[in-house]
Amino acid sequence: QARLANAARIVQLQTELHRKKQEADKLACTDYLTQLRNRRAMWQNLGMDFERMSREQRPLSALVIDIDFFKKINDAHGHQTGDYVLQAVADCLTNSVRSGDYVGRWGGEEFLAVLPGADIIQSAEVAERCRHHLESLRIKVDSGEVIRLSASFGVAAIDGAGREDCNALIEQADQALYWAKDAGRNRVKIYVPGVGPRRNMR
Ligand code: GH3
Ligand code: MG
Ligand code: MG
Repeated sequence: QARLANAARIVQLQTELHRKKQEADKLACTDYLTQLRNRRAMWQNLGMDFERMSREQRPLSALVIDIDFFKKINDAHGHQTGDYVLQAVADCLTNSVRSGDYVGRWGGEEFLAVLPGADIIQSAEVAERCRHHLESLRIKVDSGEVIRLSASFGVAAIDGAGREDCNALIEQADQALYWAKDAGRNRVKIYVPGVGPRRNMR
């Protein structure tokens, strides 16, 4: 009986340890404010999807999304309201992509969406839909005021032929985001290799 009680105790401790480890893994991959995947988790998932899409010779797209003039929102309404706005943006983006696609917090007021299987045209359409949804958001805050915002989008894709890598994909989406900001914000720009700013969606 004593041996059985010991064995039961060991099983209980192991179960507890396993649960704690799962909790810790989830915490390490989750952005505390928005509950989206954090940057580290996005890199991990992007890496896995990149491998999978390359194997299947299918495209993969990335959208880098940056809220326009977010500093002004913080300055006008305070940091706490800014946090609330970031949560609203996270929810809006999550609801604007298809299942199988995913959104993470890339840093500060920047988000990353990964669209496995989507080519550059399809992902530009998704980006335009997200942009429109964000532009249409009316975020009511504690003071009773309603905050409106917009965001700029950089879109890049790999075609599945296995020539590029994840780092290049993100760099290209970042470059396109820079073009979107430079062209006046609240717009989608796609990265076209060897070409300057192209395909203004607005
Ligand atoms: P741009 O259109 O060029 O992107 O302008 P911007 O104001 O959005 O960009 P900038 O990089 O100047 O400012 C980003 C701001 O985002 C500054 C920073 O304090 C704020 N920010 C970053 N992370 C958080 C956060 O977790 N919570 C809040 N409330 N603000 C944040
Ligand atoms: Mg930014
Ligand atoms: Mg910004």
